[in-house]
Amino acid sequence: MNDYLVRATAADGAIRAFAVTSKNMVEEARNAHKTSPVITAALGRLLSGAAMMGTMMKGEKDLLTVQIQCDGPAKGLTVTADANGHVKGFPRVSEVYLPPNAIGKLDVGGAVGAGTLYVMKDMGLKEPYVGQTALSTGEIAEDLTCYFAVSEQIPSAVGLGVLVNADGSVRQAGGFILQLMPFTSEEIIEKLEKKISEIPSVTEMLEAGKTPEEMLSVILGEFGLSIGDTMPVEFRCDCSKERVSRAVSTLSKKDLQDIINDGEAIEVKCQFCNRAYHFSVEELKEMRGMKA
Ligand SMILES: [Zn+2]
Repeated sequence: MNDYLVRATAADGAIRAFAVTSKNMVEEARNAHKTSPVITAALGRLLSGAAMMGTMMKGEKDLLTVQIQCDGPAKGLTVTADANGHVKGFPRVSEVYLPPNAIGKLDVGGAVGAGTLYVMKDMGLKEPYVGQTALSTGEIAEDLTCYFAVSEQIPSAVGLGVLVNADGSVRQAGGFILQLMPFTSEEIIEKLEKKISEIPSVTEMLEAGKTPEEMLSVILGEFGLSIGDTMPVEFRCDCSKERVSRAVSTLSKKDLQDIINDGEAIEVKCQFCNRAYHFSVEELKEMRGMKA
């Protein structure tokens, strides 16, 4: 199944919903960053959540960044998403190995630990929107739920799951976000809370072969679910040599000179996708020459 997300509403528009299947996207991220299983899960959950959050933005050029800074061995994660299903991201530490948690799952909460979740939305305004909340459990889905409640004042339910094969490859990945509009009745809220406490986990639903539409049907089938549009999602980096060269050219004249003195071409990797770009001594000299 190709990766895609679906948007939906339920309860006469009182609930808006998103669901995504993102196995290929997360596998691509794993290949780019050579992540260990628990980091694959952490990054994959954040990428899947961000893909859905990105489509909540309106503008073609809007860009969402979700960043976690944390005191666990993972240290941090950064992902970005646009409004069209393109995401990219990287972990601060690619390889963390931890025993499974108390319920036998990859210990994402243990890898992340305590910290802060930052959400930045660049919507072409003078100042980007920045929201931040303390991490709740470090399991990512709960942390995003907490962010929506505290920073955006939108009661939400977020489910995210990544299942990793024995060889480390991604077996399943996906998730959902449900959000309540301000006019939602207490009756609907109570019924939905009860429902969410009863549903299988995201990875269980994906393992059972459920599509994003079917996952939403499991959760919202009794709420008058109305499926909206779908959109392909993918891990895509828009880096280029020119973009990377801007980072190189921020080096001081002395640092550039030191590299030039070494007399060898250098390799600079894009943080988001690990693609390597090479700069010859000639190119480095040109950059140095542009410095005062
Ligand atoms: Zn890149």
